[in-house]
Amino acid sequence: MKQEKHIVSILKFVYHYAIFFLLVAFVTTSCTILFVSTFFDTLNIPLTDENISTAAKLTFGNCLLLSLLFTLIDALRRKYTVLRPVRHIAEDAEKIMQGDFSVRIKPQVQLATDETFNEIIECFNKMAQELQSVETLRTDFIANVSHEMKTPLSIMQNYGTLLQAPDLSDEKRMEYAKGVTDGSRRLADMMTNILKLNRLENQQIFPQTTEFDLGEQLCECLLQYKNVWEKAEIEIKTEIAENVMIKADAELLGLVWNNLFSNAFKFTLEGSTVFVSLTVDDEYAIVKVQDTGCGMTAEVGAHIFEKFYQGDTSRSIQGNGLGLALVKRVIDIMHGEISVESSLGVGTTFTVRMRRG
Ligand code: ADP
Repeated sequence: MKQEKHIVSILKFVYHYAIFFLLVAFVTTSCTILFVSTFFDTLNIPLTDENISTAAKLTFGNCLLLSLLFTLIDALRRKYTVLRPVRHIAEDAEKIMQGDFSVRIKPQVQLATDETFNEIIECFNKMAQELQSVETLRTDFIANVSHEMKTPLSIMQNYGTLLQAPDLSDEKRMEYAKGVTDGSRRLADMMTNILKLNRLENQQIFPQTTEFDLGEQLCECLLQYKNVWEKAEIEIKTEIAENVMIKADAELLGLVWNNLFSNAFKFTLEGSTVFVSLTVDDEYAIVKVQDTGCGMTAEVGAHIFEKFYQGDTSRSIQGNGLGLALVKRVIDIMHGEISVESSLGVGTTFTVRMRRG
């Protein structure tokens, strides 16, 4: 194998030499003919066989020397300006192929190499950086899913063990069975959210745009939480503009309102208020979901749209930190905007802006 490579490089050298030889021979011969003919004409030297043969020999020797010199110069130029950077890139690409995404190639000294190499190197480094962050996301995702699965699974295990005890009263049996059902529902909800998020991120869900009344949709979604707000004695206030027609995917947008409403109720203490409003301007329909609940710090607010992120205040409350990640993805797909304002202990306002056209 090594010998083969050696032969190939010798053949390549000969090939390059031949190119330079033909090139130099052509240029030198043309120049020599021109020079010799002018020179002999001016000095009146006769064009004898002997004179021509000496000139031809000199020219041939010249061609040999010059082409050899050019071949060597070209080989050195190639080695330092092409082969070296290419070898560096190839070696680092090999490392990436083997899973080491921390690799970054140093930019080449510009005088010695073509600027194109630095452009390739820049693209390569960006690619490595992207792959590294995808890898981090992947491992984080697996860690998060496993962590989120552990809690409901251990709850279900505990209730399962309790259910095995003999002489259980009907009341206790029902309570433990409900614990198992709740845990499995929580797991199923999480899986559904993961699948939805996955399909949204992989663009397997294409928005089915229809025209519908946004105010009506908001009211319908809100009414689904009637039991929740009545039980928690939460006051509901609404200010919903009428006949606001919007072109969007109603099912996906419903997902947004459901998540915002369920959070508003989840993070609101008994006796507080949830306010929902719909207004319009020339371009946008603007929905605000405001609560007077626990609120969040700026630090928490900066991460709430990340997958599996749960603020400190929600640690004890049910959830898996996927709701707002889904909301953000849906809003992005529909080219809308979402923002949040919140103060700890005062409350939170989510504002969604959707284009009307
Ligand atoms: P989950 O509700 O399952 O924890 P989300 O993605 O819906 O996940 O929310 C992420 C985090 O954002 C919550 O854990 C909570 O800290 C914060 N959050 C969301 N909505 C509110 C709200 N209305 N009031 C206070 N904090 C909120």
